[in-house]
Amino acid sequence: MMNDVLQATQIVIEQALRRLGYGDEMVELLKEPMRLLTVRIPVRMDDGTTRVFTGYRAQHNDAVGPTKGGVRFHPGVTEKEVKALSIWMSLKCGIADLPYGGGKGGIICDPRKMSFRELERLSRGYVRAISQLVGPTKDIPAPDVMTNSQIMAWMMDEYSRIREFDSPGFITGKPIVLGGSKGRETATARGVVIMIHEALRIKGIDIKNARIVIQGFGNAGSYLAKFMHEAGARVIGISDVNGALYNEEGLDIPHLLDRRDSFGNVTNLFPNTIGNEQLLELECDVLVPAAIENQITEANADRIRASIIVEAANGPTTLEATRMITDRGVLLIPDVLASAGGVIVSYFEWVQNNQGYYWDEDEIDHKLRQMMIRGFENVYDIHLTRKIDMRLAAYMAGVRKMAEAVRFRGWV
Ligand code: GLU
Repeated sequence: MMNDVLQATQIVIEQALRRLGYGDEMVELLKEPMRLLTVRIPVRMDDGTTRVFTGYRAQHNDAVGPTKGGVRFHPGVTEKEVKALSIWMSLKCGIADLPYGGGKGGIICDPRKMSFRELERLSRGYVRAISQLVGPTKDIPAPDVMTNSQIMAWMMDEYSRIREFDSPGFITGKPIVLGGSKGRETATARGVVIMIHEALRIKGIDIKNARIVIQGFGNAGSYLAKFMHEAGARVIGISDVNGALYNEEGLDIPHLLDRRDSFGNVTNLFPNTIGNEQLLELECDVLVPAAIENQITEANADRIRASIIVEAANGPTTLEATRMITDRGVLLIPDVLASAGGVIVSYFEWVQNNQGYYWDEDEIDHKLRQMMIRGFENVYDIHLTRKIDMRLAAYMAGVRKMAEAVRFRGWV
């Protein structure tokens, strides 16, 4: 039951709002997205047949500003998941103090089994289906699980055609030539790196030779492995959907990155892989779940041997598992804080699009760092002073501004 991501989110949102002094009405409003659109998208497949896909776009709350968040292409997408993900986006934007509420979209599909042109038609069809509800001042999509800058480019082009003017600010995570931001591609991983440094500092562990385990080799996981390797840490385990690779001396990350395909598959090229369950239970300093939801649960939380967990994925740890690992003194940097780097640089991209003036990478890195550190210090401070776990502290930091905005607008 606790593996229901929406229900788990609602429990913590309620606890956070109550601690901030809000009553039933605010809880009622913020525990669900204010808008959810379900769409059916007909797509002409390469063999001439038509397949109809189901997609969603959830907008949690727009009291602070337009809603913002990615679109995932995955066979496991559900309405509940998209709703929970939109609430998490609100929390990320709140923690980073961005002028946005949270939104999220998803299409039930398996992009690994679709051709390039089929993906293009699906992406364009999705934008046509949601176009009335989204826009640069309403709701701004971005990449998420198994979507990338090419998909953002098609979506931006389709939206611009519908509106009949060029609208780069409609979507973020675009290719640089179409108004994408420097540093967006690596932003989630950069943010996670900053959080790992903070956590290691608190635990008194030196980054040189720190043992890192990363679950997932997609956008966040692969860049993170690269940056950790470059920083002198030992990345001893990585995984993808097919399995995991482990080497106590440290894996040859540049080689693995070189062999990785565009969906982050690499382990299938090697013999002697271990399972994803074993990977999570490796003895290490930092464990980074960078894949999907519900990976650390009450079933395996007791066997996790990391001293720090930094959640690069959305929702990798259940509430019960959060309690179990926190009780054992594991330092947890929760998803809504740790993975905020992506949306922070998306915000920079949107600002640059709105101004038509583009920044260099140093400026982006510097501002990203400032925002991540500020977010971390705020959450860590709430955790210490209120004596609550890091997840609840992050929810309190994340929902505060939204609740205040709702109040000022007179909605509750
Ligand atoms: N999909 C990313 C996330 O879950 C980024 C969202 C964005 O850039 O708007 O945070």
